[in-house]
Amino acid sequence: MADKMIAIMKSKPAYGAELVEVDVPKPKEGEVLIKVLATSICGTDLHIYEWNEWAQSRIKPPQIMGHEVAGEVVEVGPGVEDIQVGDYISAETHIVCGKCYQCRTGNYHVCQNTKIFGVDTDGVFAEYAIVPAQNAWKNPKNIPPEYATLQEPLGNAVDTVLAEPVAGKTVLITGAGPLGLLGITVAKAAGASLVIVSEPSDFRRELARKVGADVVINPFEEDVVKEVRDLTDGNGVDVFLEFSGAPKALEQGLQAVTPAGRVSLLGLFPRDVSIDFNNLIIFKSLTVYGITGRHLWQTWYTVSRLLQSGKLNLDPIITHKYKGFDKFEEAFELMRAGKTGKVVFFPHRK
Ligand code: NAD
Ligand code: ZN
Repeated sequence: MADKMIAIMKSKPAYGAELVEVDVPKPKEGEVLIKVLATSICGTDLHIYEWNEWAQSRIKPPQIMGHEVAGEVVEVGPGVEDIQVGDYISAETHIVCGKCYQCRTGNYHVCQNTKIFGVDTDGVFAEYAIVPAQNAWKNPKNIPPEYATLQEPLGNAVDTVLAEPVAGKTVLITGAGPLGLLGITVAKAAGASLVIVSEPSDFRRELARKVGADVVINPFEEDVVKEVRDLTDGNGVDVFLEFSGAPKALEQGLQAVTPAGRVSLLGLFPRDVSIDFNNLIIFKSLTVYGITGRHLWQTWYTVSRLLQSGKLNLDPIITHKYKGFDKFEEAFELMRAGKTGKVVFFPHRK
């Protein structure tokens, strides 16, 4: 095995990142080393690349970026028992303590001591990467790496869509970025009867249609609430799924959801939002879920089974594939401009 590797490094506290050659790391106690077969860019990586306020407060360069991954285990560290060389794994991003109140009551996804893989540690935008064994998820060999790397964001989408069943229900999704697009295919696979998508970008509305949205709406040009009512016999949708982080979309969705309906909120708002709680939530008797991360490990089982069922339509969502990392800057700039769905790298050229 090579002893040097190429990696995308956040090397300085400034905009951008660098392609560097570094030593292949050695797995320590409780860690495994993987050969990265596929890795995908998440919105969080973009924030680190752009060096926004959050990144400045959290990231300590130099650090290898990335956390969405599929790879083959090539070495296991001391004390790792249930993972072997040759296993094909992906990784959960939340490194949890297992000891706090939330962990001990099964709510690992909101562990009080969460560290984030690829944010608080070196990540996977590299030819080889260290994964904490407790965060490894074994994949069936028949799932291609470009799908297996999407499981982490698919987990966000699954928890958002399936906080309650959607079979036979009408659904509004606001925001068709990478996560909203994954939400569309999950909702369709789970039997939603009508999936309406509100998204201002022409490019992403087109992607939403290709993924399987029944109706797409441009919220900057059309009246979302009226369109939704017209499509649902005047009732409004049973389920509202917020994937945009746009305050306006939140308000429109709360107006468009039927009384006693269900709401899941995944999008992160850039600031405090002001909502008419009385009329839009309380008097409507809505059930509202805040969604963060993925349930460990229930959601991974669901995601893995959905992938194996062949019911997810992921190909239109993966808009860009790169062999090697040479064009990583192009990839990040396209993503910044909203000109992508998911971007996948295959670090090894063969
Ligand atoms: P993204 O920014 O790529 O996508 C958001 C989409 O919303 C864009 O396509 C944008 O055009 C669209 N949009 C903007 N204004 C809108 C409006 N008024 N109505 C409808 N759509 C509108 O982000 P993403 O990577 O797809 O992630 C989606 C959201 O989920 C982000 O806010 C992200 O921060 C959040 N997120 C949350 C978690 C969590 O654990 N809660 C995890 C990952 C991502
Ligand atoms: Zn904990």
